[in-house]
Amino acid sequence: MARIPDAFIDELLARTDIVEVVGGRVPLKRQGKEYSACCPFHDERSPSFTVSPTKQFYHCFGCGAHGTALSFLMNYDRLEFLDAVEELARRTGMEVPRETQQRNENNDTRDLFNALEAAARFFQRNLDTSDKAKAYLDGRGVDAAIRTQFMIGYAPDGYSALKDALGTDERRMKLLDRAGLFSKNDRGHVYDKFRDRVMFPIHDRRGRVIAFGGRVLQKDDGPKYLNSPETALFHKGRELYGLWQVKQANQKIARLVVVEGYMDVVSLFQFGVKEAVATLGTATTPEHAELLFRNAPDVYFCFDGDAAGQRAAWRALESVLPRMKDGRQAFFLFLPDGEDPDTIVRQEGAAGFDARLQQATPLSQFFFDELAKDIKLSTLDGKARLAERARPLLAQIPDGAFGDLMRQRLTEITGVGAGSTVPSAPAPARRPSPSQAGQKPSLVRSIIVRLLHKPALALSIESTHGFSALRLAGMDLLLEVIALVHARPDITTGVLLEHFAEREEVVALQKLAMQDLPGDEENWRLEVLDAAVQLEKQMLQQRLDELQAKQRSMGLDEADKYELRTLLQARIGRH
Ligand SMILES: [Zn+2]
Repeated sequence: MARIPDAFIDELLARTDIVEVVGGRVPLKRQGKEYSACCPFHDERSPSFTVSPTKQFYHCFGCGAHGTALSFLMNYDRLEFLDAVEELARRTGMEVPRETQQRNENNDTRDLFNALEAAARFFQRNLDTSDKAKAYLDGRGVDAAIRTQFMIGYAPDGYSALKDALGTDERRMKLLDRAGLFSKNDRGHVYDKFRDRVMFPIHDRRGRVIAFGGRVLQKDDGPKYLNSPETALFHKGRELYGLWQVKQANQKIARLVVVEGYMDVVSLFQFGVKEAVATLGTATTPEHAELLFRNAPDVYFCFDGDAAGQRAAWRALESVLPRMKDGRQAFFLFLPDGEDPDTIVRQEGAAGFDARLQQATPLSQFFFDELAKDIKLSTLDGKARLAERARPLLAQIPDGAFGDLMRQRLTEITGVGAGSTVPSAPAPARRPSPSQAGQKPSLVRSIIVRLLHKPALALSIESTHGFSALRLAGMDLLLEVIALVHARPDITTGVLLEHFAEREEVVALQKLAMQDLPGDEENWRLEVLDAAVQLEKQMLQQRLDELQAKQRSMGLDEADKYELRTLLQARIGRH
């Protein structure tokens, strides 16, 4: 995939007005310097969503949603990063930079998409003429509308139906091969990969066919599901079957139901559960988890109730855990022996299936049940073992209420906190040290807050050399912000915050960015410069203290003495 230079993104966002982008989708009301609205990302009656034209970012005080015009498009229009970039570029009349090689690849990619599309149409045409494939879908209750919506087709029996129809020249043969539609025997003979199967095209997030899944008609006719191999366009660990259709069917996706097979997805749709997607013959990967939660806050995983199902569910849990930000929920539904979502929805209808989802096991419960499975919790050893198993997993949960509750639950079950290793002694509550309490905001903080309001102010700090070695809370962060702005002078507040999106500092940074700061840009510039000078003084003092301490303990060498003299003179000069 093409990497887009940061400088281009910065310029793109500098030329974009977030108020226009958001305002085109959500009615905004002007309030002082900012705009407000009811948050489009959570349900609310009174507006807690604000858009700042000067800082070029949005922020919701209710659910914590925040970001730039780019992330707004990704979240609101559910676009992938590159698509969101292209959308903004189109609005501003900028061209997304691509290398020449990339351009050739693009032509190539287009040909590959076309070949897959042609194959999908070929399979669809063959469904019309295959009585047994139609009988199969009729038997499953899949009607014409759903067949069209999912572009369901049929790959004829025999070894060369597709090859004969579409592989008319060398170039097309190569494309079909790269699209994963052929197999090769050990004598090098090329033949159709999918034969006598009902064909389910797999769409990417823009609705283009990128691969196929084929399902046998009769139970004992080879593997039940056969997928396209990995190709340039298809990586099964990153795709979800049905996601395109779910997006088409729902304005706002409240939940996603993850099932095992294509037929499950299609049946659920047919019976009115239009939120189902399937992983493609793989366990739920971290990429899947990310994709799921990017599209819906609640995710339900359906598995067989047997041991294999439990194992698969645990794999899904492991992928999901590091993505359990606040506001996200995961549930596990285990189906009775011999049933799958397809059979259940046909027997019980959407309401019955829905009722089962309501009863699904929350992630927290599944987590502790599974970990404690073979443990005797009545013993001290058992409790210690559970705590031992839980700790590394709990550490992966992002900061927030959910993580806190999970750790609290562990303590309730075992009496052992997630962080400590000593069972009985409870950790003392953290209190700010007396020196910190009641102090005015630190110099570091006062610079950071101004840089967050106007990043370009960092450019007036020509060098951080004079204070970078100061051992102060937040110094690393300050240095990072300054370096970032020097590297990307056009950076907006929104992009700056985005840079820290995955880090724990982001919450504090957001708060600072939202603060009402008296004065104007020129005041802030002087305040920043003044604070920098004071920091430099502190650093001189820190070094002086060090040298004097060394003088007392072990004596100074010539270089130290020279440095000490210079520092003392500099201090006199400054006073
Ligand atoms: Zn919100």
